[in-house]
Amino acid sequence: MIDVLLNRLDRVRKHGDGYRARCPACGGHSDRDKLSMSERDGKVLLYCFGGCRGDAVLAAVGLRWADIMPPRDRPLTPRERDEIRRAARQAGWSIALDALAIEAKVVLVAARELQAGRALPTEDLARLQEAIAWIDASATLLSDAPAWRPDYMTPVKAAA
Ligand SMILES: [Zn+2]
Repeated sequence: MIDVLLNRLDRVRKHGDGYRARCPACGGHSDRDKLSMSERDGKVLLYCFGGCRGDAVLAAVGLRWADIMPPRDRPLTPRERDEIRRAARQAGWSIALDALAIEAKVVLVAARELQAGRALPTEDLARLQEAIAWIDASATLLSDAPAWRPDYMTPVKAAA
């Protein structure tokens, strides 16, 4: 089902278990592709690091959720709707973790070069900038995932 969406996007490329592409809703003049997508259990998950809502991303390429989700034979119950909302939040966290894992490797490679006393070529510096931006966006996305946020990530409250 995700192919229907991928076929309508620009600069689609494989990224970890999913894909990245230019966000059709906000990515017109950005050099960083902010739309992250994957498919799990037949469900399409998408997240825009530029802050676009999923339905806005789909609308920008003339699609609705119904076009990329398996057909349903009855309306959703409130409980199912809650379930979908929660799944969407978790999908965002999962996408952020994937992005962190990939971008951390980029930073690690750069750090090793610097540690060895070698200067980074311009294109590597640009990639490093991109990695930093992704890590920053992922950390923001994960900041509302308290269930498994370790204590050391909890901001220390300033004394009154
Ligand atoms: Zn967007």
